[in-house]
Amino acid sequence: MECTNMEQKSPFLSKMINAARVYYIETFGCQMNVRDSETAAGLLETVGFSRGTDKESAALILFNTCCVRDHAEKRVFGNIGALKERKDENPNLIIGVFGCMMQQQEVAEKLYKRFPFVDIVFGTNLLSRLPAFVESAEAGSRTLAVDENNIQIEDDLPSIRTGKINAFVNINYGCDNFCTYCIVPFVRGRERSREMQAVVDEAKKLVAEGYTELTLLGQNVNSYGKDLINASFASLLTEVSKVEGLKRIRFMTSHPKDLSDEMIAAMASLPNVCHHVHLPMQSGSNEILSRMNRKYTRERYLEIVQKLQAAMPDVELTTDIIVGFPGETEEDFLQTLDLVEQVGFASAFTFKYSPRKGTSAATMEEQVTDITKRERLQRLNALQERKSRENNEKYVGLAGIVHVEDCNTKNEPVCYGKFSNFKMVYFTGTPELIGQYVPVTVTNVRKNSLYGKTAESSKYKTDTN
Ligand code: SF4
Repeated sequence: MECTNMEQKSPFLSKMINAARVYYIETFGCQMNVRDSETAAGLLETVGFSRGTDKESAALILFNTCCVRDHAEKRVFGNIGALKERKDENPNLIIGVFGCMMQQQEVAEKLYKRFPFVDIVFGTNLLSRLPAFVESAEAGSRTLAVDENNIQIEDDLPSIRTGKINAFVNINYGCDNFCTYCIVPFVRGRERSREMQAVVDEAKKLVAEGYTELTLLGQNVNSYGKDLINASFASLLTEVSKVEGLKRIRFMTSHPKDLSDEMIAAMASLPNVCHHVHLPMQSGSNEILSRMNRKYTRERYLEIVQKLQAAMPDVELTTDIIVGFPGETEEDFLQTLDLVEQVGFASAFTFKYSPRKGTSAATMEEQVTDITKRERLQRLNALQERKSRENNEKYVGLAGIVHVEDCNTKNEPVCYGKFSNFKMVYFTGTPELIGQYVPVTVTNVRKNSLYGKTAESSKYKTDTN
């Protein structure tokens, strides 16, 4: 249901078009939100705004919100509340809030009421209308717009890319999985895929702009194409990999239940598809996986891992794990530790379960106490730290190609970037290397990072590009 409320302010508060017209966007949450902020930036620049580097000098401040993380609402409300004084000093300042959190009608209304100095509140689904909302704000009107049913894919919106060496490309939106702890299907809607040609065309455009590395984005990339005819994630990878000049293709996130043999074969055979899979495991207990509605078992998860490792011996796996899900017993948790031990993830994002309003897990009985969650998280992190260290140590003496992301010249000239399989490497170098593909030999491991020196050639067989 769409709710749009444009409220006229008293005439003396009407805004003049601000001379500077500089915008600043603060983004919370995942890569999907980063990509949405790039689109918001593109839309604003088409109507004459230019990008600022801080809130202080901005004439328009936008918050792109996320509702997935812990205490997200509190953090966003706190950030917005802090702007009241600035708005009092400068009534021409435009403040807008959008993103997943604002897709929730109730939360959007609450924010709109609590902060009368906020000019624009809208859900992500209405992003293409941002210029119109800003125009209204400049004319003195407030906007509250939420449309839960607008699931149209808008392919041709302008955007300003923020990635220095890697560009994000959306391939599908929304999610049909309804994991019992997750709010995403309720705020991002049902799953829908972009046409394959639209993705390939965007990849070609980005390569023409100078990008040689892309990340294909979706809540569940592996189910790409299920709403199209004759399309799958494997066939999409195959088509995108043909784009001339494209050296590295990454993707995220993969749902284990949809990761097919066809996709593993495509990954292994296409030379520019990177050998890294972010494969959220969430739990190692079948009982908890079932309560989470993940639709795979620990045995199936391990089988996928083994297939990936057999097809690509250099593949690196990263994951997400939740501890203290409702009903998780010590035995269930030990199953999680056991699976982490067996798989050997390069790294893991680990979380204590926290209930999200509107999800079924939030009302499940047998909630785990915070003290138990904390204790389990510590044990899991200690194990993962050991596994990450072991994983890093196997690289000492190996060489590979680093795609250089950035360099820090403050103390010592250190550049960094990733091997094709996502391992981050630091080495001595200077800023002209940014964007280059540089052979680096790993010489040592410090804390949790790989350090190396530039090498004559690569002996590391993954990095052929
Ligand atoms: S797959 Fe599950 S965790 Fe991921 S977005 Fe969909 S519902 Fe959320």
